[in-house]
Amino acid sequence: MSSQAQFSFPDFPFQELDTIQIMTGDMNSPNLDDDVTLESHMQFNYIPPDVPDIPLQPALIIGPPVRTPIQNNHNFKVEINSADVNRKKYLYSSQLNKIYVDINCNFAVQFSWEGIIAKPLYVRATVVFSDEDQAEKRVERCIQHRHESITDDSIRMNVLRSSREVGTQGVFYHGDPSRADSWYSVLVEMNNTGQSTIHAYKFVCKNSCSSGINRRAIAIIFTLEDAFGNVYGREMTGARVCSCPRRDLLKDEESEGVFKSGKKRVPANQINKSKTKKIKIEVVPNGQAAFDTNLITLPQLQVVGANVMTAGLEMMVRMMEQGIAARSDDSQYVANCSACVTSLKAAIQQYKHADSQ
Ligand SMILES: [Zn+2]
Repeated sequence: MSSQAQFSFPDFPFQELDTIQIMTGDMNSPNLDDDVTLESHMQFNYIPPDVPDIPLQPALIIGPPVRTPIQNNHNFKVEINSADVNRKKYLYSSQLNKIYVDINCNFAVQFSWEGIIAKPLYVRATVVFSDEDQAEKRVERCIQHRHESITDDSIRMNVLRSSREVGTQGVFYHGDPSRADSWYSVLVEMNNTGQSTIHAYKFVCKNSCSSGINRRAIAIIFTLEDAFGNVYGREMTGARVCSCPRRDLLKDEESEGVFKSGKKRVPANQINKSKTKKIKIEVVPNGQAAFDTNLITLPQLQVVGANVMTAGLEMMVRMMEQGIAARSDDSQYVANCSACVTSLKAAIQQYKHADSQ
């Protein structure tokens, strides 16, 4: 095919909307006098339940935590400042983006963001194994340390705790030991006042705990989210829980070549970032707007070049795949996305095939 050829988006077998409505941006008001439109509208448009009397709680998330950092739009920052604290108990290496801390030692983390009106907001902290080949494995407490009197397993089995007492208002623990795909996380409700917020955490297992972390490298994923699981920011910080934080930090920085070469190495998490993220995709809407779950039919628009169109469609596929990962608890949304992804991939294949003829 010539690169001068024009391509039309294929027809997708979803909700029928008048082209006029799409062109005018009137996406939420399909013509409900039409029986076919009415039926598809009822079938696909998910309307969140109105629950004004029930206090909001953080959303339950199932499956391995997403690791892709998200910072743009809301400038979510996670900062650990160990300069002014007892240097024996915890230290932060900015070169390695990693905290070194003793077991049961509180360490303070500062969170900041911009331009989010949604309330309540939570920071979810989830400990994961750093290595990608361990990503499917859940971090849980070792057999020795898990024997304590706390009856709530989502707290008892988590290697990470809020420094606040168990039961403190605004601190939640998620994770179900009976479900292997249920990760343990600590959620802390944040005052969304525009000021940065500090919260202290502590580890209740060490890296060396056999049967638990068992000497594997770990990291904490901090996610800024609302009560519906919409994610506004995500950052990952390496962690090592050990008796001699200073010794281990110096050893790690040494072996990373920080001192040998005199140059600052690229932190491990940034290396991963560049490998896994070729195109920066933001699935989170701007500001406080609700997560858009509406099914939208592509209008009949034209673009020049098959490569341009397939790249555009591939971007849509990746955004919806991220949406599926971020909202795995919303079965209607996941089903809609999955159907769209399948159709889009088929269309991409069709156009790539046609282009190679
Ligand atoms: Zn332990």
